[in-house]
Amino acid sequence: MVISKHPRRRDAKAENGARRDLQYPEPPEPLGVACYDNHTHLEIEDGEAGLEIGEHMDLAAAANIRGAITVGGDVESSRWQVRAANEDEWLLAAVAIHPNEAPNVAAAGELDAHLAEIESLACDERVAAIGETGLDFFRTEGAEALSAQFESFEAHIGIAKRLGLPMQIHDRDAHDDVVATLRRVGAPEGTVLHCFSGGPELARICAEEGWYCSFAGNVTFKNAENLREALDVLPRERILVETDAPFLTPVPLRGRPNAPYLVPHTVRFMADRLGIEADALAQRIAENTLGLYGPFDRAERAAWRARGAGARRG
Ligand SMILES: [Zn+2]
Ligand SMILES: [Zn+2]
Repeated sequence: MVISKHPRRRDAKAENGARRDLQYPEPPEPLGVACYDNHTHLEIEDGEAGLEIGEHMDLAAAANIRGAITVGGDVESSRWQVRAANEDEWLLAAVAIHPNEAPNVAAAGELDAHLAEIESLACDERVAAIGETGLDFFRTEGAEALSAQFESFEAHIGIAKRLGLPMQIHDRDAHDDVVATLRRVGAPEGTVLHCFSGGPELARICAEEGWYCSFAGNVTFKNAENLREALDVLPRERILVETDAPFLTPVPLRGRPNAPYLVPHTVRFMADRLGIEADALAQRIAENTLGLYGPFDRAERAAWRARGAGARRG
């Protein structure tokens, strides 16, 4: 299988400037039942090994992670994800302009054209979601940039609803505005807060609205008690798991390269917190994932769409 080399590479230094350990961690003990990575960025290379897509997915399969959604952040990376998902049966794609990228695209006068391109990419049958879109008040500031971010978020909501696709939301320091925007404009049927970063209050709102919360490796971080409290109050049918790889590697592997095969660490940690068996949680998450995005397997996906699941798409 030939997929172009990784177009991006993660910084070898951590955010605090320290050198990271670039070795991929040992594979974990596989889960007893198949589970899925709701959100990863396979186009961003990391680590000394520089794993190719097929190697990533073989490692994932050995850990019983039977699929991943690889997520775009601009037109170019979204195109890459769609190509990857067409070449690897265990990958589905999500396409969007990231909220930190939207202001740059808008400043260049290209927002409408790029949104049109995202909508046309989203019609590919290997695209499972619109994402990641949303609001990020941590990295974006200034009235003009923020207004472009809101405009882009609302436009992505429109695309998701027109195509009948779920949506993966990036919400950084923007809980209130994300919720208010979704309520004002009307949320797509399958709305997911990726790398869930709120506490129990936001989790209760999501439960009320029927939105999914996808937990990344940071749920294992020592200072993330609010995430664990959110997990406590969520109905199980709203829980998803993700890596957001190559970032947010779960403890005790923090700082090392992250990849879909490391999902079992996060599932085991979450199950432990909830006081249930890891395989019971994995099973629940697998059902949530497949119910939301449909099957990964090409033939099963075609049959699923033929039954009308994909019929809303033009
Ligand atoms: Zn994000
Ligand atoms: Zn992401």
